[in-house]
Amino acid sequence: MLILIPTAAAGRFRTAGSWGRLSLRISRPDGLAVVSGISERTEGAVLSVDPAELGNRLLAGCDPVSTGYWYRAAGELHAHWYQVRARRGTSLPLDIFKSAVPSGFKAPGSSGYAAITYTPAVQDEFPESGLPDLLAWHVTRTDARPLDASVEPEVTGIRQLQHHWPVEELQSARVMLVGAGSIGSATAHALAGYGIGHLTLVDPDRLLWHNLVRHTSSRKQIGRAKVTALAEELALLRPDTAVTPLALDVIEHADRIRALLTDTDIVVCAADGVAARRVTGHLARRAGRTAVLACVLQDGAVGEVLRLRPWTQHGCLSCRRESLAEAGGLDPEPALDAGYGTGTRHRPMTAVGPDLHLVAHLAAKTVVATLLERVGHPDQRLPGEHALLALRRQPGWAAPFDLDRTGELRWLPATPPRPGCPTCESP
Ligand SMILES: [Zn+2]
Repeated sequence: MLILIPTAAAGRFRTAGSWGRLSLRISRPDGLAVVSGISERTEGAVLSVDPAELGNRLLAGCDPVSTGYWYRAAGELHAHWYQVRARRGTSLPLDIFKSAVPSGFKAPGSSGYAAITYTPAVQDEFPESGLPDLLAWHVTRTDARPLDASVEPEVTGIRQLQHHWPVEELQSARVMLVGAGSIGSATAHALAGYGIGHLTLVDPDRLLWHNLVRHTSSRKQIGRAKVTALAEELALLRPDTAVTPLALDVIEHADRIRALLTDTDIVVCAADGVAARRVTGHLARRAGRTAVLACVLQDGAVGEVLRLRPWTQHGCLSCRRESLAEAGGLDPEPALDAGYGTGTRHRPMTAVGPDLHLVAHLAAKTVVATLLERVGHPDQRLPGEHALLALRRQPGWAAPFDLDRTGELRWLPATPPRPGCPTCESP
């Protein structure tokens, strides 16, 4: 049996005196219980420690059962818990348990009861032992057996990492993500996982059955706007990221997107339409924002992440494609450029979901590294502006697409703008 001890319950054990009664919500098939109420000493009824929004809580459907006691105990008892736990099948003689409970032990009936012990002095008595101050037992007429217990930490979510990761900088960052399909959905999850504080999702499409094989959303979201489905999932999974879902088309609603860019630090485009990629790159450059474009080329053989910075010597998407073609590089998918303005789509859907998600995670990494380098983390500098990731080997292809090992990652530098480019030249 695992007993979950939510923050509210842990707080009461730590302040409520020396002993009291305990109530749990229990699911026997799951071998799981959660503390739902405690009393303080002998006084009064068991007080609920259930959270206000009980409906979202695990075991909310199980009724609370008044089931045992909690005790303030000597720190030594928790050292015993670990020793007994390590020797499977053994238990602690009841006399030892009783002597560690100075407030007065309550005798169990024939089936025993669950007990939680709180040892405020455990860190003084066993410094650096890592012994927890709250543990659980099953107490019978002859012995006490360790039960698993897990205390909800006071801090959960991205702030748990703040001694290892620049949480504050990323929590204040605002990222716009255009495209909430297979690459886009995984990019959104990865950006939230890195701790981006504000995410604006732009995609007009709805989630349909054929999307499920590559998308992060589940069947229960079929028919909803992809951005709404993603916003809902992220609210549950990554509540530190505020998500604004906009069921808009970046081309059709370019004016609205342009207006939002003033309040955006960086734009990611994971849309699979050629025009959507161009428009995103164009709007971002005009707004002085960096755009990161992610897609797969070559029938899913190569993942590509392009970072387009609005810098004098950095050309836009069209300029880079033209420079590559001129240098003899094989255009990986002519349709990618040929379709500009005609609605032609290239064919990324030949890749499987996890390959697309690899590209998505590389795109998210590129976004986060760009933001962090900008605010003074030189260790986040990337090797280049244009990443090619071999999802399948490509021997015999023209450079720079001649990746001959699956998993190979190649970074290329920026190419300069071309004369007369309508995106790169000043309006
Ligand atoms: Zn250009």
